[in-house]
Order: sequence, then C-alpha cells, then structure tokens
Amino acid sequence: MSQPCVNIGMVGHVDHGKTTLVSALSGVWTDTHSEEMKRGISIRLGYADTTFRKCPNCPEPQCYTVEKTCPGCGEPSEELRTVSFVDAPGHETLMATMLSGAAIMDGAILVIAANETCPQPQTKEHLMALNIIGIENLVIVQNKIDLVPKEKVIEHYHQIKEFVKGTVAEGAPIVPISAQQNINIDALIMAMEEKIPTPVHKIDKPPHMLIARSFDINKPGTPIKKITGGVIGGTLTEGMLHPGDELEVKPGRKVESDGMTRWESIVTKVSMIVAGKENVEEATPGGLLAVGTTLDPTLTKSDSLTGQVAGLPGTLPPTRDDLKLELHLLERVVGVSDEEVIGPIKTSEPLMLNVGTATTVGVVTSARKDIAEVKLKRPVCAEGDSMVAISRRVGSRWRLIGVGVIKD
Ligand code: GDP
Ligand code: MG
Repeated sequence: MSQPCVNIGMVGHVDHGKTTLVSALSGVWTDTHSEEMKRGISIRLGYADTTFRKCPNCPEPQCYTVEKTCPGCGEPSEELRTVSFVDAPGHETLMATMLSGAAIMDGAILVIAANETCPQPQTKEHLMALNIIGIENLVIVQNKIDLVPKEKVIEHYHQIKEFVKGTVAEGAPIVPISAQQNINIDALIMAMEEKIPTPVHKIDKPPHMLIARSFDINKPGTPIKKITGGVIGGTLTEGMLHPGDELEVKPGRKVESDGMTRWESIVTKVSMIVAGKENVEEATPGGLLAVGTTLDPTLTKSDSLTGQVAGLPGTLPPTRDDLKLELHLLERVVGVSDEEVIGPIKTSEPLMLNVGTATTVGVVTSARKDIAEVKLKRPVCAEGDSMVAISRRVGSRWRLIGVGVIKD
C-alpha cells in the first residue's frame, strides 16, 4: 500500500453508520477499545487506510473499487491513491473528540441515516463545525437505504437539500448508499475522487505533526529489555519526517517543583514510521502516521500526548498559557432541541477550546465585543493566527458557539 496522501473525516450523528462505512471502505473496524465494543459506540478517534482503485475496462461508477481485482469484470484494477479515514464519534458528549479530529481532516463525508428525519442534533452540530472550521470538500451520504422504501429515500434527499442550504455542504453531492450491504460504494468512491482532492502540501518546510493519538504498544509484563518505545499517531501538516530524526514534542510534560507547575518540551528520536501499513523511510504530509520513538512508553500511553505537536527541535510554535482570541460567534446554539441565542462571552466564564488536535479548558480573564483573553488550565502549542473552536457550557454539555483566531 502506498503512503496515504489525504485525510478524510467520517462525521455525523451517532449510529448513522460512520464506523460501518469506514469498514466497508477499508476492511478495518475502528471501534476496538473494550469500552467501545461494550457500548457499541465510537469513543476515540478511529483511523484506517485504504487504497482507491479503478478498473480500466468498466464504465463509471462501477470501475471504482478498493479491490485489487475488479468485482465487475475480474481484471486487475489500477491504483489511484491511498487515503486515511478519521472516524469521529457522533455522540453528543464527544464533540471535543470530533473537533480534535476535524483539525486533521482535509475533507469529510457527512453520514446521514435515511431511516431518520434529517437533521438529527449531531448531524447539525458536526456540519456546523465543518462549516465554521472551513472544511469545504464534502460528500454527503444517505446511509441505510436498505431499510427504507424508495419514496422515503427521495423525501429524505429533499430534507438534506433543505438542511444544507447556505452551508459549506450546499453544493456537495448526495450519494445514497448502504454501508452494511455494500450498495453504491463505487459511486461514493467516485464522489470522493471528485470532491476531496489531495491537498498541495508544503514539503520543503520543517516537519509539523499534529498528534491525534498516542500509545504504549507493549503487552503488560514485557521484560524491560524488550520494551518498545512510545508511539505517537497523527498527521504531518507540512514537511517530511524520517527515522533517525530528532523530535521535540510540545507542550511536553508537566513538571512540578517548589510548588510551581510548568510544562517542559520532550525531546526524543524517531525510531520508525508506519504509513499505509508499511514501514517507510520518509513520511510525507496528508495521511495518518504512526511514529515510533525512543520515549518511555508510560509517557505516551492511553492518548496522553493527544493534542500535542511534534517537529524538529527548535522549530515549533510557542507554548501558550493564555490565548487572546478574535471572536467569531454563531447566532444560535446548535445540536440541541431548543436552539437558544448565543450571548456575548463574559469575564470568568469557563470555555472549552479546541486548538489543532488539542482540547483544553480555560477561564475568560477579559472580554470585549470581538476579543477575549483566556487563561488555560493546560497550555497549547500553536502558531499565531491559528483557528480555535470555542464551546460554552450549556446545560450539562459543552456546545460549540463559534471560533476564535489567536492574536499575539
Ligand atoms: P456510527 O455510530 O455512526 O459509527 O454507526 P455504526 O457504524 O456503529 O452503525 C450503527 C448501527 O447501524 C450498527 O448496528 C450497524 O450495523 C448499522 N448500520 C450501519 N450501516 C447500515 C446500513 O447501511 N444498513 C443497515 N441496515 N444498518 C446499518
Ligand atoms: Mg462509530
């Protein structure tokens, strides 16, 4: 499998079939944590790679496949490109995870189940997130068409058309599919080929990796001599990375001394890189990577480095304990049944902020109409002018209320 060159997000309301669709396209079931299997919902960001292929003989859309042998005519298919899917959780309590996934999506598939009226709350909340973050390369799927008669599918199609009016998804193709029964997956691949192009990456810049997951891959009880170093998973937004490169991870780790807390960046070395299921000597931007390091795996276990940034020592943006944000707030809260008006941000209110793949909570220290300053509980490493998704506590949940741009 060649290296993935683009990240495609799978977003939408819980149970609408995102994980099933990733599996239909890649053969990988991303809900593998015991908690996910028990509850039957995705909790963490899942990911899986697949190669889109095309049969040289068959007509469109039947020629599009992920099989090496064309299912239509039995001839070998030709490789188009390898993509990484980022499977976001659709449950309303997991919006922060969805937003941290959105930071690494080049485009997305909005999965909408045809057997429920559209929009469901997180169909709306996820589309709003894509809309304000500016993820414009979208394909909409109408899933579970095996469960409803044709007239209902058409009625549902019109509901979707109405719902996406005035959003980034307005012109997006709507592909009716059944992820479970493998219906119309070829047409969906064709739509992704057209609507979600491979971005042009800046490979001559120093590498900048957003960390989405981190792991300790050793089995409990592994003898010390056989312990493998910590693994980080994520995507390069620019630059290239090689085994042997020195790596700085920021903000790094929390150090407490003399009653003071500070964050110290971690320096390590890349021991190996896996991209598209293979060890590679050079990783390029676009898809998802697993980077082996020489770090003590206790530093990387259970996603403890999620939200951090990695790159060559000395090249990363500053670690920030405070953010000054230029505000762009929405008019109404979405994703709830009564969509109340969003009032101005107030001094001393807590906010949840998503910066790149990081989720952090902060308290507003000063608020004017278009500018707020926030003191963070956990610092973030981010460039000036980066975009931040802002959520406020409404009832018992964090709800997306807008975006901010970091001002220095
Ligand atoms: P997610 O929460 O969006 O990731 O949804 P899942 O992929 O976990 O699917 C939720 C449920 O819907 C599972 O029981 C799936 O088997 C079922 N499902 C997914 N796609 C289809 C489909 O196309 N047709 C039918 N009948 N069921 C589906
Ligand atoms: Mg899922």
